[in-house]
Amino acid sequence: MDATRYETLRRAWNEATTPQRRKSSEVRIGPVTIGGERPVAVQSMTDRNTNDTEACIEQIGRIRAAGGHIVRLTTQGLREAASMHTIAAEVRKRWIDTALVADVHFVPQVADAVADTVDKVRINPGNYNDRGGSFAALVDKCRKNSTALRIGVNHGSLSPAMVDRYGDTPEGMVESAMEFLRACRDMNFDQVVISMKSSNTRVMVHAYRMLTAAMYAEGMEYPLHLGVTEAGNGIEGRIKSAVGIGALLADGVGDTIRVSLTEAPENEIPVAKALVNYFSHRSRATYVRTAYTEVCDPFSYTRRQTIPEGRLGGNNIPLLYSELNSDEMAALTECRIALLTANGNDPVSEWRRAITDMQRSGDTRPVILHRRYDTCNTEALALEAAADFGVMFIDGLADGIYVEATGVQQSDADTIALDILQAARARMSKTEFISCPGCGRTLYALHDTLAMIKERLSHLRGLKIGVMGCIVNGPGEMADADYGYVGAAPGHISLYRGREAVRRNIPQEKALDALVELIKADGRWVEP
Ligand code: SF4
Repeated sequence: MDATRYETLRRAWNEATTPQRRKSSEVRIGPVTIGGERPVAVQSMTDRNTNDTEACIEQIGRIRAAGGHIVRLTTQGLREAASMHTIAAEVRKRWIDTALVADVHFVPQVADAVADTVDKVRINPGNYNDRGGSFAALVDKCRKNSTALRIGVNHGSLSPAMVDRYGDTPEGMVESAMEFLRACRDMNFDQVVISMKSSNTRVMVHAYRMLTAAMYAEGMEYPLHLGVTEAGNGIEGRIKSAVGIGALLADGVGDTIRVSLTEAPENEIPVAKALVNYFSHRSRATYVRTAYTEVCDPFSYTRRQTIPEGRLGGNNIPLLYSELNSDEMAALTECRIALLTANGNDPVSEWRRAITDMQRSGDTRPVILHRRYDTCNTEALALEAAADFGVMFIDGLADGIYVEATGVQQSDADTIALDILQAARARMSKTEFISCPGCGRTLYALHDTLAMIKERLSHLRGLKIGVMGCIVNGPGEMADADYGYVGAAPGHISLYRGREAVRRNIPQEKALDALVELIKADGRWVEP
C-alpha cells in the first residue's frame, strides 16, 4: 500500500475507534434489525442440502430455539432458489421472528431468483464480477422487496484481478468490498452489510480494521458481520473464533457475528451469545485504543521491540508463565520482566495503557500478561481469555501469557493459553485444523471425518490441515493450509498440497491413508 493511503487509513482507524461503539447504520433483515444502537445479533447457517426442505426447516427451528434469529442457507442454483421459496413460506408460518438469508456465491440469476423471497442475499464479490448490469439489477430488486444485501468477502476467494493487483491480502479484500460499496452508495442503496472473513485470525482482524478505516474515510457507516471461517470444532474452534471476533468487539467494531464451528449449527449460538454478552458488560468508559503509531501497526503484524530476558522477549516465541525457568523467575522478581495484571472489566484497555506508558518512557522490558478469572467453567474461561488475550498477541504486544481461574486447574488454564497463542498465530504447539462448518454443499459426513482425521494427525505440531466439505469453495477458503482434504464428489475426496491438487477423486475410505502417505512422502511425518 502506498504511504499516503496507509496514513489516511491509519488516521481513519484512530478516529473511528472511540469509547463509543463504532457508529453504523441500521439494516433491516426481515424481522431482525442490526446496526445503529441495536445489540450485536448472532446468527448461524444450516448444513443440510437446501433441497431437503424438511431437514432445513427442522434445523432452522433448532437454531432459533437456541436463540439465533438470522439463519443462512446455501443457495447455489435455481433448484435451491425454488426450495428457498418453500422454506421461507414455512418459516414465516411458524416463526415470524426469524430472518432467512440466501448464500449465493457465483450466479447472478440465482441472487435475482431469491431476492424477493428471503430477507437478505449474500454475494461474494470475488465471484460476482459484474458490478454494472447484474449487480445493479440485483440492488434494484432488493430495494423493491426490502431485502438486505451482504457483500461477503472471503480471504482465498478474491477475484483474479484483485489478487493480481494486491495479492491475497487484507488490502485486496478491502478493495474488493469497497468497489461494491461505492456502487451501492452511487445507487443510493444503504441496506448493506459487509464481512471480511478468513481462517487466519491475523488476516481477518487486519482486514476488518482496514475496511472500517476505509469506510470511515469515505463517510460510510455500513454495519459489519464478523466471523472467522473454518475455525474447526471443540474448544479450539471456540477459542479461534473468540480471538478473531473478540479482537474487533474490543474496539467496538461489529454488528452481527457468526461463530463457525464444524458441529451442529445450533451449537454455534450459545458460543456467539456468550461472546456478545461478555462485551456488552464491558464499560466502554475506560476504553483505550492501542497507540498504533507508537507500539504497533493496526493493519499488519509487528512485534513490539524488547530486550530479551532469558527466553522471553526479542524474537522468542511467547511463553506460558508456568514454563519460566529459575533465572526467568528471578528476572520477574527483580522486575526485569514486567508482569501486567489486569483486574478491571476491560483488560485489553488496561494492558494497552500500561504497554503504551512503557513505550513512552523507553521501557523495553519483555511483558507477561496476566488475568485471574472468577470461574470454574472451562468453556467460559476459554472464551473470555481468548477474547481478552488474543488481540494483544495479534498486535504483537506481549511476550508471555498467564491465564488463571479460581475454579479451573492450572494445567487446563495453560492448555487454553497455548490454544490462544496458536489461534493468534503467535506460537504453534499442535496441528492446526482448518475445517469448514459444512453447508448445503457438503459432500461427506464432515463431523465424523474431522474426528478421524484429528485422531490420526493431531500430533503433527505446526502443520496446517484443511478439511473442507466441497471443492467449490474448499480449496480457496482453506487459505494457507499445508495439506487439504476436500470433498470432490459424493464419496470421493481430493487431496491438496498447499493450493495444488495432488490426488483427485480418491474413494473416501482410502483418503485418510493417502493423506498420511502424502505427508510421509514429503518428509513431514513424525510417529505419534
Ligand atoms: S467449503 Fe464448501 S461445504 Fe464447506 S462450508 Fe464452504 S461451501 Fe460449504
